[in-house]
Amino acid sequence: MTDLTAVSTGRLPDRDRVRRIVDDAHARFAGVDEGRVADYIPALASADPGLFGLSMVAVDGASHDVGDTDHPFSIQSISKAFVYALVCQDLGHDEVLRRIGVDGTGLPFDSVMALELNRGAPMNPMVNAGALATTSLVAGGWEAVVDGLSAFAGRRLEVDEGVYASEAATNRRNQAIARLLQSYGTIYADPLETTDVYTRQCSLLVTTHDLGVMAATLADGGVNPITHERVVDAAVCLDVLAALATAGLYEQSGQWLATIGLPGKSGVSGGIITIAPGKGGLATFSPPLDVAGNSVRGRLATHHLSQALGLNIFASAPHPDHG
Ligand code: GLN
Repeated sequence: MTDLTAVSTGRLPDRDRVRRIVDDAHARFAGVDEGRVADYIPALASADPGLFGLSMVAVDGASHDVGDTDHPFSIQSISKAFVYALVCQDLGHDEVLRRIGVDGTGLPFDSVMALELNRGAPMNPMVNAGALATTSLVAGGWEAVVDGLSAFAGRRLEVDEGVYASEAATNRRNQAIARLLQSYGTIYADPLETTDVYTRQCSLLVTTHDLGVMAATLADGGVNPITHERVVDAAVCLDVLAALATAGLYEQSGQWLATIGLPGKSGVSGGIITIAPGKGGLATFSPPLDVAGNSVRGRLATHHLSQALGLNIFASAPHPDHG
């Protein structure tokens, strides 16, 4: 068994310093105007490219929000992290690794090729094939998804019906991926119904602050630091963070890990969550995306904050006896 009392070392700077650093990160990157708002889901194309929010929620419940942190937007692929957590909680580590897998695909999130190259193995819960297989494994279906994600957020989440309808009318590619999984026997419920639940889960409305709380729950051994509800076991958080490290930023996951040094998850509406285990959760929101579908300002701000707050999980220093 993993020793879950041995959390990663170090602490966040004091609250005032965290505030100053997060405020500074917002000011530094608000003027960046690279990237393009996603438009393959028609309802996302009208997002205001100027929106920019940062939220840092510490495991002691202290939170700091800057910018457009109350603006609601659809969670999109960030939902994959939390639905995976619910399935890990139900099925346990071994069964989930057997049915879904956790290796990086190195391919875009909506790749059909990854499935074909791997004899129908869903490969990783953070890309669409693996996420559809994961959603098909949620025991309680849609109700369990919305209840579970709401517990992570600490408030009742609702679907943006406009975004849902827009994606449901155009998501032929996800339907095809679900059917292909079915042909290999690697989806565990009806493929079109699963695609529908998946599309709904992606359409749940959150704010940047909500995402900060959800990320902080994964940093806090599965306990929501605001409501104090235990949402999942601490062991589940290990599984989720490992999956994020391998594919949370799709084909840019290696670059993300090498520069930011933390597990993260992005979504095409412009959100990114980043988890500093034992310390806190960081959420960013800014709709313009790079070619892989990751928020440009979000990536820059997270990189800066990881360095300024000392969050990189790979950092070490020589033992004092070694000079
Ligand atoms: N709902 C979107 C899709 O399946 C989510 C993709 C994403 O956020 N990368 O295409």
